[in-house]
Amino acid sequence: MSFLSGILNTVREVIAVTKSTAQGMSVTLSHIPNRKDTISYPDEPVHIFKRFRGEHYLGVDENGKELCVSCFLCAAACPADAIYIEGAEDPRPYEERISQDHRYAKVYQIDYGRCILCGFCVDACPTDAINHGHNFEWAVLTPGELTKDKEYLLANYWREPDVTPNAKQKARAEALVAKHPHEPFNLVLVD
Ligand code: SF4
Ligand code: SF4
Repeated sequence: MSFLSGILNTVREVIAVTKSTAQGMSVTLSHIPNRKDTISYPDEPVHIFKRFRGEHYLGVDENGKELCVSCFLCAAACPADAIYIEGAEDPRPYEERISQDHRYAKVYQIDYGRCILCGFCVDACPTDAINHGHNFEWAVLTPGELTKDKEYLLANYWREPDVTPNAKQKARAEALVAKHPHEPFNLVLVD
């Protein structure tokens, strides 16, 4: 390669790099007048769609009885084998028993190391016991902490922004949330 062609190649490279840099900067600059979507969470609330599939909760009826009757349909529907349940009988009258029925989940666990948030468990549940909540703060330090138990999932129900316990539900709800403390989620639900 002659000295002259070396200089020409260098000039071509400088022109090409300058052109691509100018193209990149033009895209960046064109976005500067647009609306900013970055927010300073958690100091500012994040807007979450109501249909968002976050961490699950297990619901209760108006008297605080667990809605889950341990039918195993959610576990059977789960494609990720993320749900583990142990059922038990509770033949006591409604006022005294744990769930709305004579069967209840003695153990109910969801492994969020496996869950893919597909919602099949929610669709399969005949009692509307399990639903997706809106919690998206799942960071943990060890894989074992990704498995959430029944009490945690029941506590999640009371952490939902639009759920407030009535007089019959209040004591149990407060005990569950106290046992499974979590920073309040700074979020606003939107349609
Ligand atoms: S959301 Fe899907 S993957 Fe997660 S527990 Fe439910 S069925 Fe399983
Ligand atoms: S959450 Fe629903 S589907 Fe799953 S065991 Fe309980 S009642 Fe059955």
